Amino acid sequence: MAIIVQKFGGTSVADAEKIRRAAGRVIKAVDNGYGVVVVASARGKQTDQLIADALELNPNPPTREMDQLLSTGEQQSVSLFAMALDAMGYDAISFTGGQIRMMTDSVHTKAQIRSIDAERIRKQLEKGKIVIVAGFQGIDENENITTLGRGGSDTTAVAIAAALEAEECEIYTDVDGIYTTDPRMFKDAVKMKHICYDEMLEMASLGAGVMHIRAVGFGKKYGIRIHVRNSAKETEGTIITIEELQMEGVVVSGATVQKDMAKIGLVGVDNIPGNAAKVFAHLAKAKVVVNDIMQTEISPEKANLSFMITTSDLAAAKQATEEIKDEVNCESIFIRDDIAEVSVVGVGMRTHYGVADKMFSALAEAKINIDSITTSEIRISCTVDKEQAEKALQVLCVAFELDKPAQHRTKWN
Ligand code: ASP
Ligand code: MG
Repeated sequence: MAIIVQKFGGTSVADAEKIRRAAGRVIKAVDNGYGVVVVASARGKQTDQLIADALELNPNPPTREMDQLLSTGEQQSVSLFAMALDAMGYDAISFTGGQIRMMTDSVHTKAQIRSIDAERIRKQLEKGKIVIVAGFQGIDENENITTLGRGGSDTTAVAIAAALEAEECEIYTDVDGIYTTDPRMFKDAVKMKHICYDEMLEMASLGAGVMHIRAVGFGKKYGIRIHVRNSAKETEGTIITIEELQMEGVVVSGATVQKDMAKIGLVGVDNIPGNAAKVFAHLAKAKVVVNDIMQTEISPEKANLSFMITTSDLAAAKQATEEIKDEVNCESIFIRDDIAEVSVVGVGMRTHYGVADKMFSALAEAKINIDSITTSEIRISCTVDKEQAEKALQVLCVAFELDKPAQHRTKWN
């Protein structure tokens, strides 16, 4: 039997009417002969509400108890979903993460999946049942309930799709799919038909928040086709898949902007073995998540070392840098908290030249200063003044024709 996994986000199960509509989707797939596994998130803003409830009683709640509490949101959704299907004449059974042996490590509130008991799900599917699984949760080897981090139901869905070798994992959400850029910042952004895993991973890590990044990683690892689509519409969404299936041959697929960025530079650090290690070991101890790192040798004796962080980590990063400054003989510290990072992403960059030229020229023509530049194989990022962030994004979208469907863009050499 071909299996399909359908994941419904919080907005898609927010009230009775929406659950019924989601159930209608499930029934359609069942009637088409599929074995269907549903993964549901907590309803509406339930998870936020549960967190608020916890914080009201304890500003620093034990993480084990937090997971115990947060997992109840999804447990409500799945049992209600099964009841809705039953009322519509379909046989359904709901499970918590623990019940299907969704085994994770013991890192409460951000656990990682280790294994799933696909047999329990498969047996129910063979009996003709629709299986509804609570997203976002698992259990560790001591039967403690764990959760996978905010937005983790996507990862549950893709992991189950992998374990069952499902034909596709559909992610039902409140947007139409993945856009070339955030339509709130560039109104002419277009929905992509396809995006490959690597591009989606870059876009997600650059703040394009449609999908949980680990879910995309799972999809890539196990080759699961992921279809992101709107639960309120019949239209096709965006398929996240392998690179070869992208027929359009585009070079730049999307653009992103991250507004809440800061940069710390260590000017004139001694150019000797072990100094970068010292700085980043200290930042890691302070639990600072570091983005782009840049180091340049400025003389045989000295180097400049800088790195990007989100502004939420700035205070911790600043303190850690001050603490380590003298140990690496740093002359001065340079901090900017008023920057944003604009990026263009596309696997076509691996095989085409001229992307950097086009990007820098477009920003120059708009009189936008580039503070620093970093690249990966499929991405170019520039930091600019925060005030110019939106304009920079728009200029890049126009330059790379991200307002047109891929097949209508100018062909690259
Ligand atoms: N309910 C969880 C959250 O709000 C998990 C999810 O929605 O995917 O983060
Ligand atoms: Mg989500």
